[in-house]
Amino acid sequence: MIDICALASGSNGNCYYIGNGDDAILVDAGISRRQVLERMARKKLDPSRIKAIFISHEHADHFRGVRVLAKKLDVPVFMTQKSWEKSWGPNRPHAVRLFVPGESVIAGNFTVHTFLKNHDAAEPCSFRIEHNGINVGVFTDIGLPCNNVIDHLSQCQALFLESNYDEQMLWQGPYPHHLKVRVASDKGHLSNTQAYELLEKYHHPDLRVVFLSHLSEDNNRPEVAVNAFSGVANRFPVRLTNRYAEAEMFHLE
Ligand SMILES: [Zn+2]
Ligand SMILES: [Zn+2]
Repeated sequence: MIDICALASGSNGNCYYIGNGDDAILVDAGISRRQVLERMARKKLDPSRIKAIFISHEHADHFRGVRVLAKKLDVPVFMTQKSWEKSWGPNRPHAVRLFVPGESVIAGNFTVHTFLKNHDAAEPCSFRIEHNGINVGVFTDIGLPCNNVIDHLSQCQALFLESNYDEQMLWQGPYPHHLKVRVASDKGHLSNTQAYELLEKYHHPDLRVVFLSHLSEDNNRPEVAVNAFSGVANRFPVRLTNRYAEAEMFHLE
């Protein structure tokens, strides 16, 4: 059995819990130690199960809480050499274990498959987390779905999948032009339409749930994102994450 829960998802901060009865890992730590522990407590998740924190890239919304959280939990932080080099400053964690993109890392009783993706960071990675043949994908901050994303997504029975922006809302919205271009670029984020097409085409035949993740506050709305996925809603549940609070937990048998 695996429990999954987005403790935070969006540009305010990202942190995703994947655990079973014995062990757990966190992907990203873009919220504070206090917020992580409070949200886990509300879900009755035991922090002593956490064996490692994996960092996808050095942007603050994935990284800013990691040093304090890793120290409190006394667990290693897995990140790439280039992410580590780019992440200078007070948030840089101490107990770092470097991985090479493409490497599979054992953490507790999970295997974490790492891979490179398209995003405007030093060495952006995403993760497919495997336990007893069940795979959970945490796929956010993706400018363009590359072959790595397609390959790993198609193996996942549960997904946190970026659904960052509605194209019309982005281009008609409040962002300055250069930022709109950056978000929509191959190194930016997945739109609702891009995420839907990716999922519709490549999802695992036994996909049990998809959590729409990293929704933009200005360029998306929960109901707009959910509506964009109506074409697959009869095949598996489409759920939402939240930028201010933990999302619902999902149990995979
Ligand atoms: Zn992000
Ligand atoms: Zn990012």
